[in-house]
Amino acid sequence: MVRYRSIQKSFGELQVIKGIDLDIYPGEKIALIGPSGSGKTTLGRMLMTLEEPSSGTITIEDEPLWQMEKKGNLVRASEKHLHRMRSKVGMVFQHFNLFPHMTVLRNVTLAPRSVLRLAKEEAEERAVEMLRKVGLENKLHEYPAKLSGGQKQRVAIARALVMQPKVMVFDEVTSALDPELVGEVLNVIKDIAEDGNMAMLLITHEMEFAREVADRIVFGAEGRIVEQGTPVELFENPQSDRLKSFLQRFR
Ligand code: ATP
Repeated sequence: MVRYRSIQKSFGELQVIKGIDLDIYPGEKIALIGPSGSGKTTLGRMLMTLEEPSSGTITIEDEPLWQMEKKGNLVRASEKHLHRMRSKVGMVFQHFNLFPHMTVLRNVTLAPRSVLRLAKEEAEERAVEMLRKVGLENKLHEYPAKLSGGQKQRVAIARALVMQPKVMVFDEVTSALDPELVGEVLNVIKDIAEDGNMAMLLITHEMEFAREVADRIVFGAEGRIVEQGTPVELFENPQSDRLKSFLQRFR
């Protein structure tokens, strides 16, 4: 479904990703864990075309993200190609970035209407279904300022889901929330993980959550994948000293 190959990324002198290969299979839930600054967010942002790798390739459903085929040759992707590829990916960020002057319903119908060009009724129907999924069907006409942080984040999740992406990236979606609001957001993600055949890349510092939701845990440090496996393998029987000391912090 998603294939990262030989990915490297530098920001100026700083090499953040130092050669990563990673496959995300259809419907697979991967939790990406690792110390701060190890390049997790950058990997997620690349899928959303928000960062371009310095070298290496990323394909989604066998189509390259940054290049496209033209008369048998691979050439630099057009904006149109990037746009189409981007529509396969949904991303939810640490900060929800809802439009404050729009109601919850309009925040969620905006992209289906402007990008997918759905009629108002159809976009609203889809949006209401997604808002029901995240438990906010009673907030359709509220403005974001009236919502708690957890509710705002759930709107942001509905906004991404409504586009029916093939893969969702959740980038530390609870780290800006008050501790008492974390659970409601994680529970919504768990529900989505359980009922969907959508692939997910969960970038998280919530180890219990990663253990419960992920099919596979990928531990990265200093721009490389150090270890990966099932939650039981990684959490019960970590092999590398790097992972052992990382996990100590959560005990
Ligand atoms: P965290 O868990 O703290 O979010 P992370 O593993 O997600 O960390 P990234 O956010 O991918 O790590 O960042 C990796 C490194 O790249 C950091 O040192 C960061 O400062 C740097 N970095 C990220 N984006 C940029 C940018 N646009 N320009 C310059 N440096 C950047």
